[in-house]
Amino acid sequence: MSALPRSVRARLTLWHAAVLAVIICSFSAAVFLLVREQLFADLDSRLDRDLSAVERTWRADPGEVSEAETRAGIQLFEVLEGRRVTYRTEEWARRGLASGGAAGSSRFSWLPADGRPVRILTTEDADRRIAVALDESQIRRTLRTLALVLALGIPVAVAVSVAGGTFLAGRALKPIGALADRARQITAESLDERLPVENREDEFGRLATVFNETLGRLQESFDRLRRFTADASHELRTPLTAMRSVGEVALHDSLDPAAYRDVIGSMLEEVQRLTGLVENLLLLTRAESGRPQPATSVVDVGALAARAAETLRVLAEEKEQTLTVDAGGAVMARCDPALLRQGIVNLVDNAIKYTPARGAIHVEVRLLDTGDAAIEVKDTGPGIARAHHGRIFERFYRVDAARSRAEGGTGLGLSIVRHLVEAHGGRVVAESEPGKGTTIALLFPDGREPGAESRYL
Ligand code: ADP
Repeated sequence: MSALPRSVRARLTLWHAAVLAVIICSFSAAVFLLVREQLFADLDSRLDRDLSAVERTWRADPGEVSEAETRAGIQLFEVLEGRRVTYRTEEWARRGLASGGAAGSSRFSWLPADGRPVRILTTEDADRRIAVALDESQIRRTLRTLALVLALGIPVAVAVSVAGGTFLAGRALKPIGALADRARQITAESLDERLPVENREDEFGRLATVFNETLGRLQESFDRLRRFTADASHELRTPLTAMRSVGEVALHDSLDPAAYRDVIGSMLEEVQRLTGLVENLLLLTRAESGRPQPATSVVDVGALAARAAETLRVLAEEKEQTLTVDAGGAVMARCDPALLRQGIVNLVDNAIKYTPARGAIHVEVRLLDTGDAAIEVKDTGPGIARAHHGRIFERFYRVDAARSRAEGGTGLGLSIVRHLVEAHGGRVVAESEPGKGTTIALLFPDGREPGAESRYL
């Protein structure tokens, strides 16, 4: 497990304080070294000045070298000739300083017995050796004070930075807390609520916007699901109510065997309607839950359309309708043959259902200029007003509910067609006007140019 704290606020503050501590430590060390360097450089140049003054005086007259102390006020120096001390200041002697044994020039710090450090500069040639010294204790005190100030300043600065960082991080992250509280209150029953967006441009605003968009999509699917459940229950109730009332009447009255057979017959009819409805619901649910899949097989659309239409010929014959199929040219499309068959069956079934007796239904398969492989199902029925075109593909939508039910329709046929076809990369379009019949076409892409539109809406 990570040693870092869990809260972002604490982590931010910690990082901030750690970085600041490193910066302040490096800065303090640099300041200390620089000041130390500067103070010692000043001391050394004063030593150089004192040494050359003593040297000058000695050169002018070795016997009068004491003038360097009396006149120039240089308090710490000694002059030796060979091993003999020519002159040594009173202060030098009192403090028991020594110029060291190193030959030539040397510069060093030294702690004499009195505990007050000095800096000594010596120069030596064949006949004499001069040493000057300056007290270093003031510099050392200054450096100690500086070190103390810096050492105390670092924890204080880090403490202030932790406090400031905690406050700032708290302020900056406050909207996240507010968003989380609000999001926690949103349930399936209150999907219409949205998170507050104070500024769409900042990170929190963008997060809230994305979350709100997701909520919007969820709400839409929930609403659709609720509508679907309500519609499905309504559809299922109708045949169930019919069965119950027929059954109740039969139970109540004593009927002859032929009447009972009628009752059972009409109950079976309702059962058949229920079975059809449940099958369609299952098919639709499967079509809706399936992810779009790229069609892998190339289908001979003409042959398949002819076979599908043929299975419904008996229904058309019952209504004395003519059912013709024009699938002359070899039209190939990339699609799933089972779903294409289901789509064609649904369209031809609708055409037979809604076209009056002795009408005509024509199935045509052709390649459009746009490259679409089109399967068109035309009829000479009542047609559909333009206002309904966009809606006939919705679940349970019927232009004329009574008529659809009377014909055994469930209101799901076109919705199933659209979902199946779209899940496999195709489209379904309608062209119809009242009194001029209806044409509904399934279009499957076959190397179609992007942007090329068919003549359908
Ligand atoms: P249904 O089971 O009611 O036929 P569909 O989803 O198959 O449900 O069709 C939806 C509605 O579209 C139908 O109720 C009907 O009003 C209309 N419709 C579909 N096909 C045709 C057609 N060929 N001619 C006239 N109206 C049609």
